[in-house]
Amino acid sequence: MAKRDYYEILGVSKDASAAEIKKAYRKVALKFHPDRNPGDKEAEENFKEAAEAYEVLNDEQKRAQYDRFGHDGMRGGFGGGGGHMNMEDIFSQFGDIFGGHNPFGDFFGGGGGGGRGQRVRRGTDLRIKLKLTLQEMAGGVEKKIKIKRNVSCTSCGGNGSKNGTAMSTCSTCQGAGQVKKVVNTMLGQMVSASTCPTCKGTGQIIQERCDSCHGDGVVLEEDIISIQVPAGVDEGMELRMSGKGHYPPGGGVPGDLLIAIVALEDEQLKREGNNVVHELYISFVDAALGCDVEVPTITGKARIKIEPGTQSGKILRLRGKGIRDINGYGQGDQLVHVNVWTPKKLTDKERKTLEALRESENFTPNPSKKDKGFFEKIREFF
Ligand SMILES: [Zn+2]
Ligand SMILES: [Zn+2]
Repeated sequence: MAKRDYYEILGVSKDASAAEIKKAYRKVALKFHPDRNPGDKEAEENFKEAAEAYEVLNDEQKRAQYDRFGHDGMRGGFGGGGGHMNMEDIFSQFGDIFGGHNPFGDFFGGGGGGGRGQRVRRGTDLRIKLKLTLQEMAGGVEKKIKIKRNVSCTSCGGNGSKNGTAMSTCSTCQGAGQVKKVVNTMLGQMVSASTCPTCKGTGQIIQERCDSCHGDGVVLEEDIISIQVPAGVDEGMELRMSGKGHYPPGGGVPGDLLIAIVALEDEQLKREGNNVVHELYISFVDAALGCDVEVPTITGKARIKIEPGTQSGKILRLRGKGIRDINGYGQGDQLVHVNVWTPKKLTDKERKTLEALRESENFTPNPSKKDKGFFEKIREFF
């Protein structure tokens, strides 16, 4: 669905002043506020849309960018890329709109027990590197690895309190997790609520700290994780296992485990995209007479035929012997680069044999276009 114009959403003209934009947003926000439209999805969408429009038009720099480039200029603008504000962002914006107080503080539900606006705490992501051989990347593999991550403390159930000792109700907020203030706003008297600074919103105070986690609610634990690596992964790719990261202190949902693929070098085969390349060395005798040779492949070995009169630099293609594309776009090939090996040392007998051949009629180089090797062709091309 195409995004609506921000000015249109707030019902203001393109040259509206900052004060006009603020006033217009106040009107729209109140009209579509979730508390006034309980369960109305459309109102909620309008509410979010207006918040996004205001977020941009209220900021001189963002507004200028939007005026020049439209919605395309806004990509990655909010909260690191998504472009969508969550309810918490929207409500934090209200401080600015309603003169330093959030008239909708109570929207968060009060009383520490998961009001609908309350954010679920999420642990941090855990990042690891996974080294794989070419064969493992090509064929996929199951890897069991050791990770160290914060998990919820079992001694205290994650609340940080010593086993058996009671938690006491926070005296600042009387267990509500929030402190309320009656304030006067342009909309009349309102109750404003904010997270209790004493108990950080839990409503409970730890009497005696848990021995295992020292009150953190989490302990660092070693875990064996089984990773199913799909066939076709490559260096630089990242796999994500949701929920296998750290648990946050004080309870909540764990972060993710991010696995960066690192390719181990292979002595025989070099990867080029989904193709693999093998540098084959043969003697000039084999090149002249032709031969059968064995070459390594990612799944084992293959025999290939070298035709008599093969030139150095020739490339032989073994179809389908490469790496299966990770997105299912077919399978790569194996390329065999033929290199004719020149001996570096000769015995007297070898030298005599070669001397005899030196002036022989077929031993004078006389390459036709067809005989030119790959690298020569490349050089000519440039
Ligand atoms: Zn504990
Ligand atoms: Zn408290």
